[in-house]
Amino acid sequence: MNVRYGSSGAARMHADEGGQLSFELVSEGTADPGPAGAAHTGLAYGSPGAPENTDTYIESLQRTDADAQKLAGIDVPRLDIRQASRLWAKVSSWVESDQIAYYINDSPVSSDAAYDARMLMLQKLEAQFPQLDTPQSPTHRVGGTFSNDFASVRHPSRMMSLDDVFSLSELKQWYEGVRRDLEWPQGKPLPMTCEVKIDGLALNLIYRHGILYQGLTRGDGVIGEDITMNVRTISSIPGQLSGTAAQVPEMVEIRGEVFMKFDDFASLNSQAQAEGRAVFANPRNAAAGSLRQKDPRITALRRLSFYAHGMGTLEWGDGDAGHPQAGTQSQAYSLYKIWGIPVSGHTREAVNFDQILEMVSYYDEHRYDIEHALDGIVVKVDDLALQRRLGSTARAPRWAIAYKYPPEEVNTELLDISVQVGRTGRATPVAHLKPVRVAGSTVSRTTLHNAYEVDHKGVLIGDTVVVRKAGDVIPELVGPVLAARKGREGQLRRFVMPRYCPSCGTELAPEKEGDKDIRCPNVESCPAQLSNRILHLASRQAFDIEHLGEQSALALTNPENNRPDSVSEYLPDTREITVAPGQEPPLYEPDPALQLPEVQSPAVTSEADLFSLRAEDLRDVRIWREIPVIEVVQGIDPVTGKKTKTRKNRGGSGLWSQSPAFYNLPTRGGKASDAQPSRTTVEMLSEFDKAKDAELWRVLVALSIRHVGAPTARLIAKRFRTLDAVAAASEEDLVSVDGVGAEIAASVASWFLQARDPESWRGKILHAWASAGIGSQAAEDPGLEQTLEGKTVVVTGTLADFSRESAKEAIEARGGRASGSVSKKTSYVVVGSSAGSKAAKAEELGIPILDEDQFRQLLMHGDVPHE
Ligand SMILES: [Zn+2]
Repeated sequence: MNVRYGSSGAARMHADEGGQLSFELVSEGTADPGPAGAAHTGLAYGSPGAPENTDTYIESLQRTDADAQKLAGIDVPRLDIRQASRLWAKVSSWVESDQIAYYINDSPVSSDAAYDARMLMLQKLEAQFPQLDTPQSPTHRVGGTFSNDFASVRHPSRMMSLDDVFSLSELKQWYEGVRRDLEWPQGKPLPMTCEVKIDGLALNLIYRHGILYQGLTRGDGVIGEDITMNVRTISSIPGQLSGTAAQVPEMVEIRGEVFMKFDDFASLNSQAQAEGRAVFANPRNAAAGSLRQKDPRITALRRLSFYAHGMGTLEWGDGDAGHPQAGTQSQAYSLYKIWGIPVSGHTREAVNFDQILEMVSYYDEHRYDIEHALDGIVVKVDDLALQRRLGSTARAPRWAIAYKYPPEEVNTELLDISVQVGRTGRATPVAHLKPVRVAGSTVSRTTLHNAYEVDHKGVLIGDTVVVRKAGDVIPELVGPVLAARKGREGQLRRFVMPRYCPSCGTELAPEKEGDKDIRCPNVESCPAQLSNRILHLASRQAFDIEHLGEQSALALTNPENNRPDSVSEYLPDTREITVAPGQEPPLYEPDPALQLPEVQSPAVTSEADLFSLRAEDLRDVRIWREIPVIEVVQGIDPVTGKKTKTRKNRGGSGLWSQSPAFYNLPTRGGKASDAQPSRTTVEMLSEFDKAKDAELWRVLVALSIRHVGAPTARLIAKRFRTLDAVAAASEEDLVSVDGVGAEIAASVASWFLQARDPESWRGKILHAWASAGIGSQAAEDPGLEQTLEGKTVVVTGTLADFSRESAKEAIEARGGRASGSVSKKTSYVVVGSSAGSKAAKAEELGIPILDEDQFRQLLMHGDVPHE
């Protein structure tokens, strides 16, 4: 044998110090115990040789060194095949565990002598009963070269997959269908199990005589892959079933799910991160990657878990006395508990549809509050006899259904990474995704924050990536699906952070050494920064100009955005290209005389220009639009006999044309000078007046001074009252305001110091705005009573009279902090209708929960009277 634990042939001779055995100890060389008496009884330990005693004896053998030595006394040729296979199963599981302990976990659990005795027994059994000599036997395993062979193995009984439904109405249909097929009387409870659907990998465990014999992947449901070696490294899967002899069947298939708990996943990833390796995108990927390792030593290092959720074949063998009942799904789970097989603690029983709905809604809210990832609820008819009556389709059982929650995590393709320059000049890599539905909305782009983050996530352009959107959180690119790279390496490309601003060409640089973010330092005239600042000053937190959105901000500051590089992409005066179904647009050949139009200078080059704009100034502003390809299907309505036309947008043509941004095109036959400003343009210009009446804090927000958000702006406005006073304040004055830190004070003081030069960019803004009447409004005094000073309030769910934004404003206007997440520091949680897990968390932490009326009282008085 190749395995040697420590020293020692001598230990073997003392293995039975207990002295209860009558036989001579034998060594490896003497295959046959020999003594005549022993040979006649079949067993050499002096007990009667009746077969039932042999059974009991085999049953009684334990995985101890002492019992290992007893093996040598067994007279193998006297065993029948049933006894031999029972003994083989038992001993081979011990040998395999020994091998795993020694080779994989590097911590032997048995003595060298015991291991050798067991191995010898296996060899004897296999010599006598060749049917036991399978390629999977540990006798064929050469030490040190452990690996899974992933042999294809037929499941004793087929592993069905479940039908999925994605809506409650489909779930209801299934439920009604089951009741109808069973002719179940109206109103009579029909017991079902509701189980949390684990987002993991299906596994079939085969136990023979209570011993783990094989672990198989689902494969195609008929044939799976043998991953027994890896399964043995999962600590919660017992090598041997617990329970009395009558409780343990001759053979059973236990179906369940292998997964990684959130906690184990987090520690696996943080270790990978510490070692500079790529991290897994989610627990499911981590579990899959771990389970299908050739080398079980790697699997052993990963902390995989298992919950059983079904049963395949169950054979009790001969003798029917005292077997536990397994006539229902729930009884099977009770049996699993006896055997030491882990089952989910989240399973509930339901006897009507309402109870199923309760389960569905409870776990929808608590998706991230349990120990593992889940993607739905599985409902099963409990009674196995009823299950048989319902039967199966070719693919799935009729007695079970999987209700799937809207996916909060999906795979899609990372098409490209571009760099966008934001309001404060920060250059941010943005992921462009193949549009995908996740958690109820379509996602096509998401921020990657900075170049370090791109590196850290390890994504390459062209990767299949995991995108997550949990609750109302913005979509996040989690990471690449590493397995999907195979064979596509040539199509993947590393992202490189550009050196120059993509908007204005200025060299990007970190603001100060060690910053992870890099910025475009051209604050004054970088078009990207300007258009984002304009968008910001129009936002609800500032002047609240509704019709000044992203499109308009871009058209005002950077009308040549999207200008084509060459005339071959320029098709003037064209709104759309129509084609017949299945047809491609004709190849475009520009007129040789055609030239790209002149570059326009923007209508707005600084915030200073904005409030003096008149409609006429916007007449000639044109923006570049990609011309869409529209498929037009002509037909005849079968009922009315009228001709019909349906249009389908097939997407961009790759050709661009210009169109007016703020004016409507003149009607057919009209002159260009007849064009009129669009309705939204007129409204936008009239909303500019709002800025004149804006409170001081809004003006401060609108100036886009670094680090000054609405809460800070309110504090500063409340203290200094007028824009002139703020402009004159020193850094010391500013830092003396409660809630204004050194960094904010320095930023504000420096902004206004630079603005003192009337010729400077900042000075011009202040001057222009003052001429337009902006900033003349003194802060109201006294401001609202600061009832919520030092308090943090979380609002969750929908309120009748407050939007998310207005609730936040109300809290901040009274000096409180509005937060999005519940923690120990939260003072109050305001719960509206259809509130999610935040309410539950508040309850858990003992934080006062208020309804909308109590919220109003809180705003007024700073607390809520006790009932
Ligand atoms: Zn720039």
